[in-house]
Amino acid sequence: MDYEAFFTGALDELKGEGRYRIFAELERRAGAYPRARRHGGTGPDEVTVWCSNDYLGMGQHPKVLGAIHDTLDRCGAGAGGTRNIAGTTHQHVCLERELADLHGKESALLFTSGYVSNWAALGTLGARIPNLVILSDAGNHASMIEGIRHSRAERQVFAHNDWRDLDRRLAALPKDQPKLVAFESVYSMDGDIAPIAEILDVCEAHGAMSYIDEVHAVGLYGPRGGGIAEREGLMDRITVIEGTLGKAFGVLGGYIAASSALCDFVRSFSSGFIFTTALPPALAAGAAASIRHLKDSSEERQGQQDRVATVRARLKAVGIPVMDNDSHIIPVMVGNPVHCKQISDWLLEEYGIYVQPINYPTVPRGTERLRITPSPVHTAEDVDKLVDALSEIWSRCALSRVAVAA
Ligand code: PMP
Repeated sequence: MDYEAFFTGALDELKGEGRYRIFAELERRAGAYPRARRHGGTGPDEVTVWCSNDYLGMGQHPKVLGAIHDTLDRCGAGAGGTRNIAGTTHQHVCLERELADLHGKESALLFTSGYVSNWAALGTLGARIPNLVILSDAGNHASMIEGIRHSRAERQVFAHNDWRDLDRRLAALPKDQPKLVAFESVYSMDGDIAPIAEILDVCEAHGAMSYIDEVHAVGLYGPRGGGIAEREGLMDRITVIEGTLGKAFGVLGGYIAASSALCDFVRSFSSGFIFTTALPPALAAGAAASIRHLKDSSEERQGQQDRVATVRARLKAVGIPVMDNDSHIIPVMVGNPVHCKQISDWLLEEYGIYVQPINYPTVPRGTERLRITPSPVHTAEDVDKLVDALSEIWSRCALSRVAVAA
C-alpha cells in the first residue's frame, strides 16, 4: 500500500467536503481574555475570542493563577507517577474532596480529562457489571459513546431527551437486568437542556442507575456551580455526576462524583484511571481554587447570563438565525460547511473576531453553524463589533435572515 497516498487521499476528501479543520494558532494572554494574539494568517494580530469553553474566564482568574504558581513553586511540574504509584498528591486528594462536596456526593474520582472520565467510567461499569444494559441518549458526546462501545455492554440508544422513549425501552427489559441510563444536562452544540427530573423518575421506576454528563454546566448553573442538577435540586437522585475542570473551571481534568463504593470500584478496576500519569499537582490546586471561588461567587455566572441574553437579543434583532435554547450556548445556524468556513474566515481576517466553524461529524450535515459563547468579560463594545460584523457578512452573502418582529 502507498500509505502516504492513502493519508493525503483521505484528507483531500475532507477538503472537498469543506470539513477539513484548520486551527487558529492563538496565544492567550493572562489577564487579557477574551483577547488573544493570533500567529499566522493575514488578519489582525489581536483577536477577540467568541468560541471558547473557558466560559467564565476562570482560566485567567488571579486566584486560579495564584494557586497554580504557588503549587508549581512548592511542588514542581509533574505528578511523578500514576495515581497508584507515587502520583497521588495532597492536591489531588483535596480536589476530590472539593468535587464530592460540590455535588453532595460521598466521593469523587479525578481523571486527566472529561473525555477520559466518561470513557473510563462508562467503560468500566459496562464491562464489569454482569449483564448491564446501557441506555444512551442519541445526542451523547463521543466520549460516552466510545466508553460504552469499549465496554461491550449491551447498548440501546433512546431518542434525544425523550423520557417516554426511555420509559418504553426500560419497561421492555427484564425487571432484574441491571440498567444504566447515560445522558447530558446541557448539550454542547444545540445548547438544549435535558428533562432531568423526568428521566430520573423513569430511572427510579425501573431500578436503573443514572449517569449524567454536566460538562457544559458545572461552574455555570446552580447556587454553588454544581450544574443543572444542583439548580433543580436533583443531585442526590443521580447515581453518577460527571464533569470537567477544563471548561467553566478554566483548567484541565475530568471527574465523576458518586457513592464511595462506586468511585472505589471505578478506581480499582478502570484502566483509564490506573495506567496513566496523574494530573500535575499545580493544575489540581488551580482547579480546586476555581471551584472554591465559584462555590462562593455568583458574580461570574450572573455576568455570563446577562451577556448571553444581550448577544442573543441583539443577533435576533438584526435577523441572524439563532437556535433558541435556555443555556449559555448561542448556535448561529448556517447550514452549509463551505459558507460556515467562509464566514468564520472573514470574521477572523477582516474583523479580528474568532469563531470556529462547527461541521459534521460534530453536528449533523446541513446544520453547520457558528457556536458563540459569550463570557462575563466580553465588553459591550465587543458585542457591538460582533453583531455589526455578522450583520455585514450576512448582507454580503445575501444569506437569509429571520423576520424580525416589529
Ligand atoms: N462531555 C461533553 C459533553 C463534552 O462536550 C466534552 C468536550 N467537549 C467532554 C465530555 C470532554 O471533556 P474534556 O474537554 O474535559 O475532555
